[in-house]
Amino acid sequence: MPAQLLDGVALSKKIRTEITARAAIVTAKGARPGLAVIVVGDNPASAVYVRNKVKACEEVGFHSVLERYEAEMNEEALLARIATLNADPAIHGILVQLPLPAHIASERVLEAIAPQKDVDGFHVANAGALMVGAPEFKPCTPYGCMKLLESIEYPLRGARAVVVGASNIVGKPMAMLLLQAGATVTICNSKTRDLAHHTKDADVLVVATGKPKMITGDMVKSGSVVIDVGINRLPDGKLCGDVDFDTAKYIAGWITPVPGGVGPMTITMLLMNTLEAAEKASKH
Ligand code: NDP
Repeated sequence: MPAQLLDGVALSKKIRTEITARAAIVTAKGARPGLAVIVVGDNPASAVYVRNKVKACEEVGFHSVLERYEAEMNEEALLARIATLNADPAIHGILVQLPLPAHIASERVLEAIAPQKDVDGFHVANAGALMVGAPEFKPCTPYGCMKLLESIEYPLRGARAVVVGASNIVGKPMAMLLLQAGATVTICNSKTRDLAHHTKDADVLVVATGKPKMITGDMVKSGSVVIDVGINRLPDGKLCGDVDFDTAKYIAGWITPVPGGVGPMTITMLLMNTLEAAEKASKH
C-alpha cells in the first residue's frame, strides 16, 4: 500500500489560521507583526520565494516591507540598512534572502541582524542557543519538518533518525531538533560511506542535499517517515525533491510530496517566528 502523504499545504492552512487570529490580537495591542525582506540582485529563484513570503504576510494580516537592491550594492550600505531596520519598532523580523552576490560576506550580514529580529534563525547567537536547547527562533525549514512530525504524533523518543545533508540552515539544525526530541540521530554528508546502510535504518529520514531524486525506494526503511526538503527544477520545468517519490512512496509509511510538503511549512514557520517576535515586543 502506498505511503500516507504528509500534507504541508493542509497543515500550513491550519497553522496560518491560528497565526491570523493571534496577529489580530497583537495588532489590537499596537504591535502589528512586521517583516522586512531584503533582496540584493535578481536571482530568479529568490524572486519567487520572496513573492511567496510577502503574499503570505499579507494573508495573515502582517505588515511587510520588501526592499530590493541592485546586485552592485556594497556591503556597508546593506549593513547600514539592517541597522536602521534593527531600530525600527514597526519591524519585528528581518530576513535577508540568500544567496547574496559574491562580493558581500553573507556571515557578516546575517550577524548584523539583531538576534531578537532574526526570524530565519541563522544568526550565530540563535544557532548556538539551539545547541543548548533554547533559541530565540528555530530555523524555519527544520521547525516546519518538526511540525509535520508532530502532526502525526510521531513518537520520536528512542526513534532512529537520519538526516542526509549537513548545511547550517537545514541539516545541522534539523539534527539538533530531532536529538532534543529524544531521537538517536545520524547526520550524513557527501563523504558518507555506504549511504544506503544508514538511510535503510532510519525510522525518520530527512533529506536535504539538493540532489534530485537521489534517495530511491530501495534506500528507505519499510513503514518509515520520509521528509523531503529538496526543491529542484528539472529540465522540463517540473519541480522534484531529493527523494525519488515514485519508488519511495511504496516503501515508506509516510512521505512528504514536492511541491506541497516542506516548502509551505517553511513559510508558515517564518510567519510563526515573526508573530512570536511581535508578541514578545508587545509585552515590553
Ligand atoms: P547545501 O548545498 O547547503 O547542503 C547540501 C548538503 O547535502 C551538504 O551537507 C552536502 O554534503 C550534502 N550532500 C550533497 N550531496 C550528497 C550526497 N550525494 N550524499 C549525501 N549528502 C550529500 O543545501 P541546503 O541545505 O541549503 O539545501 C538542500 C536542499 O533543500 C536544496 O534542494 C534546497 O533547494 C532545499 N531547500 C528547501 C527549503 C524548503 O523550504 N523546502 C529550504 C531550504 C533548502 P557536504 O557537507 O559534504 O558538502
